[in-house]
Amino acid sequence: MKKVVKFGGSSLASAEQFRKVGEIIHSDRDRKYVVPSAPGKRYSSDTKVTDMLYDCYNTAADHIDIARKLAAIQERYQEIIDGLGLDLSLDAEFAKIREQFEAQAGSDYAASRGEYLNGIVMAAYLGYEFIDAAEVIRFDEDGVFDSETTNRILQERLRTVECAVIPGFYGALEDGSIKTFSRGGSDITGSIVARAVHADLYENWTDVSGFLVTDPRIVENPETIETITYRELRELSYMGATVLHADSIFPLRQEGIPINIKNTNRPQDPGTLIVESTCRQPKFTITGIAGKKGFCAVNIEKDMMNSEIGFGRKVLQVFEENGISFEHVPSGIDTFTVLVHQSEFMEKEQSVISGIHRAVHPDTLDLESDLALIAVVGRGMRAKRGTSGRIFSALAHANVNVKMIDQGSSELNIIIGVKNEDFERAVKAIYDIFVLTV
Ligand code: ASP
Repeated sequence: MKKVVKFGGSSLASAEQFRKVGEIIHSDRDRKYVVPSAPGKRYSSDTKVTDMLYDCYNTAADHIDIARKLAAIQERYQEIIDGLGLDLSLDAEFAKIREQFEAQAGSDYAASRGEYLNGIVMAAYLGYEFIDAAEVIRFDEDGVFDSETTNRILQERLRTVECAVIPGFYGALEDGSIKTFSRGGSDITGSIVARAVHADLYENWTDVSGFLVTDPRIVENPETIETITYRELRELSYMGATVLHADSIFPLRQEGIPINIKNTNRPQDPGTLIVESTCRQPKFTITGIAGKKGFCAVNIEKDMMNSEIGFGRKVLQVFEENGISFEHVPSGIDTFTVLVHQSEFMEKEQSVISGIHRAVHPDTLDLESDLALIAVVGRGMRAKRGTSGRIFSALAHANVNVKMIDQGSSELNIIIGVKNEDFERAVKAIYDIFVLTV
């Protein structure tokens, strides 16, 4: 068996956390390739090393001396090195970083140093080979991740390496300039490495015991999801559920590699298993509930709309011309609604309204703002009759008025639109009916 293990920032914030990680890795010989993040927060008011690096780099760009800020970053690593009793000096690395910051090597270079240095410390601690991600993760000249070239280089490089540490979050262009993924991007590096080595499992270690059925800020102590499919995860992540970077799914999907989300502080917990497909029935009819506030509905009405060919295209073209993407388009015989992100839409609203008038001459056009969308997701819904009935009777009992319903033909999700102010009550009601009421 071959496992790729990625550890998040909170799992590597201190020497004590490093020790837990060391124990986890050494307890299973299959954990051969390790992808670390930069040291994260040690306590809630602490600052992540990545943020310290961005700040330090901006200071250098303003031509202000960075000695103090850089020393504070080095101190974070020194504390870990001393705590682990390692014979390792990062002085030469920090001298180079200082030089590069002063020469304005770029904020991507700056941010990447968090993972780079943590990789060096981790490799020394584990006795694994260190492989600089700049060598093996490739971006094209436009800064877009080049998956196939990366896969080839990585496979070649790792062919004869039994155990290695490859820092997360960054790679390089062909000319060697450093480029990072978006924030939280070490997850992506982990999945790229898992794909390249044909891993049997990608373990993503963090500070929670897996994906929760819903947001713990809305429902106290929600249940953990045991097994979830990539597709379900994508639906939930899109609607705001976070744990794993959304772009990390794709490389794994190409190979059908399962992901296990695990908790560094509670390694005994099974966590959440993310798979391509499974016969395992979900514990509840629904797998998860996620949602977001801040949508606006553009409602268009026109008599005989149903017989006007090209109506939808003309309306959507107006949104396209204004650079606004739409979320959902529920429609009736003579009505057509376009749901958009309010913050994106607001500054263009008048231009969109006049554009629609010109394009399709509607009888009425009105806007409804401050809407929330809730996605109820679950592969189990397909096999169960009455799921939507249960959702809507729960919402009626909770006194929530449903503004919009959209069920995809895959029966994997039901999207419900409610007023922003009803959002939390609605999520709680749906959770209660599926999880707490047996
Ligand atoms: N250190 C980076 C961040 O804070 C990347 C990561 O942790 O995945 O976003």
